[in-house]
Amino acid sequence: MTLHTGRHFLQIPGPTNVPDRVLRAMDMPTLDHRGPEFAELGHAVLVGCQRIFRTKQPVIIYPSSGTGAWEAAIVNTLSPGDKVLMAETGQFAVLWRGIAEKFKIDVEFMPTDWRRGADVAEIEARLAADREHKIKAVCVVHNETSTSCVTHPLEVRKALNRTNHPALLMVDTISGLASLEYEHDAWGIDISVGGSQKGMMLPPGLSFNAVSEKALAASKANQSMRSYWDWHDMIAINKLGTFPYTPATNLLFALREAIAMLEEEGLENVWARHVRHGAATRAAVKAWGLDLVCLDPHGYSAALTAVMVPESCDADALRKVILENFDMSLGTGLGKLKGKAFRIGHIGHFNDLMLMGTLSGVEMGLDLAKVPHRGGGVIAAMDVLKGRDVVAMPKSKAAVA
Ligand SMILES: *Cc1c(COP(=O)(O)O)cnc(C)c1O
Repeated sequence: MTLHTGRHFLQIPGPTNVPDRVLRAMDMPTLDHRGPEFAELGHAVLVGCQRIFRTKQPVIIYPSSGTGAWEAAIVNTLSPGDKVLMAETGQFAVLWRGIAEKFKIDVEFMPTDWRRGADVAEIEARLAADREHKIKAVCVVHNETSTSCVTHPLEVRKALNRTNHPALLMVDTISGLASLEYEHDAWGIDISVGGSQKGMMLPPGLSFNAVSEKALAASKANQSMRSYWDWHDMIAINKLGTFPYTPATNLLFALREAIAMLEEEGLENVWARHVRHGAATRAAVKAWGLDLVCLDPHGYSAALTAVMVPESCDADALRKVILENFDMSLGTGLGKLKGKAFRIGHIGHFNDLMLMGTLSGVEMGLDLAKVPHRGGGVIAAMDVLKGRDVVAMPKSKAAVA
């Protein structure tokens, strides 16, 4: 093992770097989750999460990885044989489908080439053709972390509205929450699935479901079996600031602190910061002469950038060189992008100089690993960062028409 000094660069797109403030906040003695002090913490995180999801509806907090919240969305609202429409945007969509199929959900999986977001026109066409309303839910991954391609949830909502289709809209925003613009209520999302270890800047171990009234009604009517994930037991007891089973108490201390940090910065500023870092990173990739995985500028992710390596190269060999020489972890290519792409996380607790350190490490690594490329990526990124106001926020603020 090489000895490394200073801080490790954890530039995978989740789990992300945890701020020192959050680490300190969780360094607390275990507290009685049925005692008088707990309810204050419980209430604080429950209403805090509503503000982060931008909803007045309940947010359920599970002690689980994001995968648990995926399962929760399915088992609360769907029954075996129900039909859902899902878009195969990448590896995370594939995994979500896998869960749905284990619960005998009839998934219509709409393929993509993994280099763009979901085809919303195609979703709309399927909805329009479904006159009998057999489709019970449309499920999309907001920020497809395997490809760095975004599907804009508001566009999917508009497609549902234009076709007057009653299907639920389920959105995996595990890596979009607190990194990309997100509006659970204003965008008419029925179930938002979140996780702690991406934009929320927490360690892994918490996951979330934000649920609309319509989703709650669907879950009440749904007869299929579930227990641990059941929303209703959770919501009933959450009213008292407590949980039906032992919550991850120290992660809740961390969550309260992370929400405070996000709100001190201001969520809009958090989103704008990610937009800038995404633009600077793409400028570097362009200067290097490498290809982005994402081929559609409308789908560029502000949270991470997935980069193709030339066919003669192995992306994991490059990652290894960078880890050994510069103590930086980059995201591996997932699923069919294994070896073909690597992912640069610029999500969560992050700033301009961390980005420049990251991109310097990549550029030096490209050299050392003999990946054919041009120099100048780092300088191109610096130019973007110096022109502070050049990168405008995307104008998708409009709520559902
Ligand atoms: C990380 C991630 C998941 C999976 O979360 P786990 O905590 O690993 O279960 C799901 N979807 C997306 C988009 C993710 O980024």
